[in-house]
Amino acid sequence: MKRKKQNHVIPILLAVVLIALSVLLFVLFSRVLPDKRSTLCDPQTEREPGRIAIVTPAPTLLDLYVNFNWTETTTISVYDHRANRIVPMDLEEYIVGVVSAEMPAYYEFEALKAQAVASRTYTLYRMAHGRCQTNPDADICTNSKCCQAFSTHERMQNTWGKDYANNYNRIAEAVMGTAGEVLVYDGKLCDALYHACSGGQTEDSEHVYANALPYLRGVDSPYEDPMRTEDVAIGEDALIELILTKYPECGITDDNFRERIAIDKAYPSGRVETLRLGNETITGKQARNLFGLRSTMFTITWPEDGIVFHTKGYGHGVGMIQNGANGMAKHGSKYREILLHYYTEVTIASYGADGIATPSPEDADIPLVPEG
Ligand SMILES: [Zn+2]
Repeated sequence: MKRKKQNHVIPILLAVVLIALSVLLFVLFSRVLPDKRSTLCDPQTEREPGRIAIVTPAPTLLDLYVNFNWTETTTISVYDHRANRIVPMDLEEYIVGVVSAEMPAYYEFEALKAQAVASRTYTLYRMAHGRCQTNPDADICTNSKCCQAFSTHERMQNTWGKDYANNYNRIAEAVMGTAGEVLVYDGKLCDALYHACSGGQTEDSEHVYANALPYLRGVDSPYEDPMRTEDVAIGEDALIELILTKYPECGITDDNFRERIAIDKAYPSGRVETLRLGNETITGKQARNLFGLRSTMFTITWPEDGIVFHTKGYGHGVGMIQNGANGMAKHGSKYREILLHYYTEVTIASYGADGIATPSPEDADIPLVPEG
């Protein structure tokens, strides 16, 4: 009897141990093994709220292409101005880094898509128009003062912290949702200029740059929020020193500066075309550089000591307004509508797929040259 009882107990015990082991292994493996779903759509940081360290590895180019079923590749050479080296990079991967740096990640999704198309077009246009001016061995560089801003994964992690994975994924989705799309006018790539904030009205290209382009016309930008304004106050002594250092013959003194500094002409947009400085007349752009203003859309008042420039907007005023694009998206516009609003009479085409080739420098439009 005793032996018979043992025979029943052993299989039951074995079954219990096996079940316990299975449960344990399932729990362990479900934690250790990576989720099969896309890391682009379901980052670990989202599944583990409160965790500070970035646990999702940087998504790879393969992730981008597999997740968005994109097979075209265009390799460009990017001059990383911080690391002082040229890096070969896939175009779409580069555009993710550009949108990350050029537009806040929390902006509306349709605004991010519009930025992706503008940045892609700008990049390809630059490649055909003398490439990067800082480093002509590269197609484009990461310096916003020369070409376009760009964030590496390391910079994104430093900037975004625990939001890195979510932000990256959102921007990658916007870029890959428009993969290959570019702006075209008359069969040629556009010089898709853009900037932060116009102050409510964009500018005709010839008022800022050397030539008039039919798709860079001044348009209303009604949904900019906030409308960026800034007052720049400069005391009397500093003002006169600043002016005389740059324009020693202009005749401005501490006795006459209030009468002899005045806005001479303004464009219909409200941007200053020319400013009088005593005997000199300078352009609005020269005034912006001289006084460190955010834009050429400014007025002047005279407090007791010195001068105050009241500026509206931030940037050159030409092309798509990033802040305005976000405002339009908030009011229901899709990215195509946003782009067609800021770039007059353009069409959106698939680069390489619709017979749209990068124009050669010989037959391209004259590149925009900033005035002196
Ligand atoms: Zn450059």
